[in-house]
Amino acid sequence: MQERIFLSSPTMHGEEQMFVKEAFDTNWVAPLGKNVNELEREMAAYLGVGHAAALTSGTAALHLAIKLAGVKAGDKVFCSDLTFSATVNPVSYEGAEQVFIDSERDTWNMDPRALKKAFENYPDCKCVIVVNLYGTPARLDEIRAICDAHGATLIEDAAESLSATYQGRQTGTFGKYSAISFNGNKIITTSGGGMLLSDDEAAISKARFWSTQSREPFPWYQHEEIGYNYRMSNIVAGIGRGQLLHLEEHRQRKEEIYRTYEAGLRGLPVQMNPYPADSRPNFWLSCLLIDEDCAVTPEQIRLALEKENIEARPIWKPMHMQPVFADRAFVAVESGDGVGGDIFSRGLCLPSDIKMTQEQQAEVIRLIRAQF
Ligand SMILES: *Cc1c(COP(=O)(O)O)cnc(C)c1O
Repeated sequence: MQERIFLSSPTMHGEEQMFVKEAFDTNWVAPLGKNVNELEREMAAYLGVGHAAALTSGTAALHLAIKLAGVKAGDKVFCSDLTFSATVNPVSYEGAEQVFIDSERDTWNMDPRALKKAFENYPDCKCVIVVNLYGTPARLDEIRAICDAHGATLIEDAAESLSATYQGRQTGTFGKYSAISFNGNKIITTSGGGMLLSDDEAAISKARFWSTQSREPFPWYQHEEIGYNYRMSNIVAGIGRGQLLHLEEHRQRKEEIYRTYEAGLRGLPVQMNPYPADSRPNFWLSCLLIDEDCAVTPEQIRLALEKENIEARPIWKPMHMQPVFADRAFVAVESGDGVGGDIFSRGLCLPSDIKMTQEQQAEVIRLIRAQF
């Protein structure tokens, strides 16, 4: 059996070990140190955002973002519906309630029209979490304007979209608070980790304080708030510094993979995942959407690839269709399970690993074509 072709797996280069070695050699093996400080500084500079807090995961960053937004038990929070559960779980950590907002067809992300409708239904909502799915920016300007008009705080989940830009500006800079992830499958990885981003220096200081168990500045351990153990380790941050040197190269390779699928699947009754004209996605995952009147199913393609040891994956199952969120509201412009439900039923994430060779991708395309 041939070597497995992954959806998206870590790609290391060597510089990572240099930063990790320095941490070892100086015994800075703790959730603090030079790599943590430098990774925060380097990432903030790369993105063009004021401040960054390095954390144990993107989920931790989203959790602290929700706390900073002042979300309290019983509050409603508008969330992208078509996403990974990590976007929306932290709302439950704070005892608040998700209201899921459907996607639009031409970005697969939160539909500004559905968001407006949600504010008509729940005018008191004070927080919105928008995701940039598979590395494609949402209509962040429109969504930001709708939030501003309703006095709601925008949290941007840029976990999948690091290095993507919208109207020339990096994703992860549109939210009052934004989160990125360095999980193993993301465009760059630290094995696990994440970052909270904001222009608000006091907010980022507060996040660092919470992430290190809310220790007040006393000689003894004094606690006046509940804390968390969310701070990134100096070892992990070293991996991140090495990876950041290759972020742009990873993005280019991801785009090449997307373009190769686009050309290779031409003529079939399928579309590639769409993106707004005024954006530059990071093409984290290439996805296809099978035309409505076609009998071929995504599962059929997935299984045909799996048989050849090639990993493909269904589109994220929308949050309003998840048993754990069965009692939550869903706001959509279309009826039934909305646009997200339709994309879930007809879409498939294709292998988008940057170590995949041209020959391997040609084989993936050949196998897909053989299904039609
Ligand atoms: C990966 C991911 C997260 C969570 O990041 P972790 O670092 O794995 O906690 C959040 N949202 C989305 C959309 C993701 O893909």
